[in-house]
Amino acid sequence: MPIRVLDAVVAAQIAAGEIIERPASVIRELVENAIDAGARRIVVDSTGGGLRELRVSDDGAGIAAAQVETAFARHATSKLQAADDLLAIATLGFRGEALPAIAAVAQVICSTRTADAAAGTEVRLAGGEVQHIAPIGVAPGTTFVVRNLFYNLPVRREFLRSEAGEQAQIATLVAQYALMYPEIRFTLTLDGRAALQTSGDGDLRTAVVAVYGLDVARRLLPVQTTLGGGRDALTIAGLIAPPGLTRSARNAFHLFVNRRAVAARGAIAAVVEEAYTTMLLPGRHPLVVLGLMLDPAAVDVNIHPTKSEVRFRDPSYVYSGLGRAVRDTLAEAGATALWQPPDEQIGRRFALSRAGGVPAAEAWQPPAWDQGAAEVPAFPADLRVVGQLTRSYILAEAHDGLLLVDQQAAHERVLYERLLAGVAGELIDSVALEPPQVLTVAMQELHALWPALAQLGLVISGTPAALVAIPAGLDPALAADVLGELAHHTRAGAAGLHAPARLRMIAAHGAIRVHTALDHAALEDLLHALAACAEPQICPHGRPTCMRLSHAQIEQQLGRG
Ligand code: ADP
Ligand code: MG
Repeated sequence: MPIRVLDAVVAAQIAAGEIIERPASVIRELVENAIDAGARRIVVDSTGGGLRELRVSDDGAGIAAAQVETAFARHATSKLQAADDLLAIATLGFRGEALPAIAAVAQVICSTRTADAAAGTEVRLAGGEVQHIAPIGVAPGTTFVVRNLFYNLPVRREFLRSEAGEQAQIATLVAQYALMYPEIRFTLTLDGRAALQTSGDGDLRTAVVAVYGLDVARRLLPVQTTLGGGRDALTIAGLIAPPGLTRSARNAFHLFVNRRAVAARGAIAAVVEEAYTTMLLPGRHPLVVLGLMLDPAAVDVNIHPTKSEVRFRDPSYVYSGLGRAVRDTLAEAGATALWQPPDEQIGRRFALSRAGGVPAAEAWQPPAWDQGAAEVPAFPADLRVVGQLTRSYILAEAHDGLLLVDQQAAHERVLYERLLAGVAGELIDSVALEPPQVLTVAMQELHALWPALAQLGLVISGTPAALVAIPAGLDPALAADVLGELAHHTRAGAAGLHAPARLRMIAAHGAIRVHTALDHAALEDLLHALAACAEPQICPHGRPTCMRLSHAQIEQQLGRG
């Protein structure tokens, strides 16, 4: 076939494919436009899973009659003028791609009026072309009606979930905006039934009541801190769950940067989850509504087609501030980091809640911590290695007794915290792997992930590509094992690779095992590395790394007390 420039309709359909994946994507774009237009009230209606009809109505600024057609042209926006504006974006939209993209894959009716105009304008489009445009009597604001989404892209329709699945995504999305903009009054109806109604009174907790109910809203802990000043000022504000209020899915993770939603599986989420790690059972996730506000010039929002990820100029500043804010809030609320109840007890609890027919989303109540455990003494600083027990445990003398450290759990904790530091932007010490480990075919194909791996200290280079360096401390004999596991699990991309669960897995695979002889120097290194950890007493999976025998206990046992 000869090379030709694509006609406008095909080009627009291709572009639309990136932005408009499903009905919820249309809602996202239209709601963001309404917010950018200064709306105080936004009404969203969806029928037939959003495929039959979507309607988004706002009381914002409206579009002047002379501009309505232009709004649907590709790269037409009122929000950016020069390339420089991209450096500090204050609006949600800026690419001028949403309206033409939607019009390319659906039938659209837009009626709009600015406050000062005597009449409004109605425009109808199909297949990206304006079919009709005329004056109309409407209230100030804008209403978009989007019908028969993907009517001209049957393949796309086949990839969608059930109607109920798409409705659920729409509901989640609107809830997300309602939490992000408590000063806007949101209404959502699904197939004519009221699904969500917020008051728009500007109070985040009231918005949480509308989305999650009064019981949940009452228990949330407020977070409010500002770090730095001037152009470095970073404000972290919102509501977070105490450790007892968790769910089995991460769908109650609402994270915003400059009032723009970011993915619940990215680096920011990883930082928040990490702050909770040792307080939650594996697989449980807290309810979090947290916003970061910082100088728009310190954030790049233009790195993702649906703008669901952002990049910070100084990620470690932001991540460490965020981690600290969450940890401090939890600590103030008396949620001392403790290790989790033994597995047996966990099993029993889940069995109980299932038998009781408790819905999946129900808050989980932690077992009451016993009094003694509530006062876990700090990890001792002045440790002296005595020796190794059964090639599995480090015996160490502390000022107040004997410490017995599980070498595998300890090493997992050490590796895990190093990987976390790497994700947060710190440089991880790598050591050369001799000989380099040539990659499997599966790993060769994942080259998009190599930079993300390098951030974890796993350096790949050469032809054929080989693993040439690994994080200091990782057992070289286990490096192949780690890579194999990663190849298996990393379809999710870099964000998935940096998720806490994946880091825990790398740490688990890379750690020295029990029944491994270690010399005195190795025992000392490991013990000191553990003592330097933020959470030395708990392995990344929530088990204790150590047990103590105090002088008092020893004396009592030996009848010297
Ligand atoms: P962007 O939001 O990136 O500017 P869009 O294609 O979403 O691009 O919208 C194009 C333009 O149409 C916007 O810049 C804005 O001027 C106008 N517009 C879209 N939706 C609305 C609305 N609900 N109210 C007022 N103006 C709107
Ligand atoms: Mg837009």
